[in-house]
Amino acid sequence: MPQILHGLAVQTEILTSLQPRIAKLTRPPGLAVMLAGNDPASEIYVRTKIKACADLGIFSEKIAPPETATTDELVAMVEDLNRRSDIDGILVQMPLPKHVDSRRVLEAVAADKDADGFHPINVGYLVSGRPAPRSCTPAGIIEMLKFYQIPIAGQHAVVLGRSDIVGKPMALMLLHQNATVTICHSRTQNLPEMCRQADILVAAIGRPAYVTADYIRPGATVVDVGINRITDVAEGLRLGRTEESVRKGKAVVGDVHPLDMARVAGAYTPVPGGVGPLTIAMLMSNTVELAELHQNAG
Ligand code: NDP
Repeated sequence: MPQILHGLAVQTEILTSLQPRIAKLTRPPGLAVMLAGNDPASEIYVRTKIKACADLGIFSEKIAPPETATTDELVAMVEDLNRRSDIDGILVQMPLPKHVDSRRVLEAVAADKDADGFHPINVGYLVSGRPAPRSCTPAGIIEMLKFYQIPIAGQHAVVLGRSDIVGKPMALMLLHQNATVTICHSRTQNLPEMCRQADILVAAIGRPAYVTADYIRPGATVVDVGINRITDVAEGLRLGRTEESVRKGKAVVGDVHPLDMARVAGAYTPVPGGVGPLTIAMLMSNTVELAELHQNAG
């Protein structure tokens, strides 16, 4: 039987470890969450993040500019937040409306308020292995592997996907944990063969159930980052989802075929319930760390 790597257990441990650190601060940590427009999935993500803040005693503020807000207006709002002393972390929920220059808005966030770890300065710190806010999803995956005592050092990790928010930082964090790392992407040749070399396979490509049994070395650890909504009932049933969940719009699968993963992997993260809870936990962790930085600096 494969080991199932549940994210909630790790999330609980991370959040519990933050409580005494928050209690020591002179004021609650503050997180501003900017949600521009009306993307329904983003609204759910933001609600979850704000609830996590409330549960932990972190002050949060939602900034909700209209869909029509310009890049300059969003940058100005971020700059206002940069100046506020009650705000330690700023998160700009992606995707921003299509007409907005997302990079300019993200880079307007001060590096020392970058709750998501996306700022180029913090990416540079990640490359050189210096402390700084880290991209939440990959940082959470490292915490999960440690929590479940999955060896990383000396293992061959294959990261499928090279996005700035998941694939690249994941590869760097695994490297800092002394894994031997291969990064694969849409131009990689012999993809199944490359992935089959992995002791630890991290899939982050945004393609439902794309990674099948022939990508997985029997006994490997598989971390499935993908979140893909299934709308076709027949496809849902094939992937082990119920007709009701598909019809209600609640059927989600990862980038790895769920039935193949359960059959071949030695350990794996389920979708949902695997990686998702870790992203929130690490966002809270980054916010507390930034609050400590600001308050210790006076
Ligand atoms: P992006 O779309 O930004 O990047 C996808 C990457 O996958 C690209 O590097 C792309 O390659 C590669 N890719 C796409 N198709 C293939 C293919 N057929 N073969 C090999 N490589 C391929 O996605 P993200 O990294 O932002 O997200 C990935 C997934 O993770 C999504 O499902 C997203 O919803 C989910 N996610 C989940 C989170 C969580 O909390 N659980 C958090 C963040 C993301 P190339 O560069 O060559 O185009």
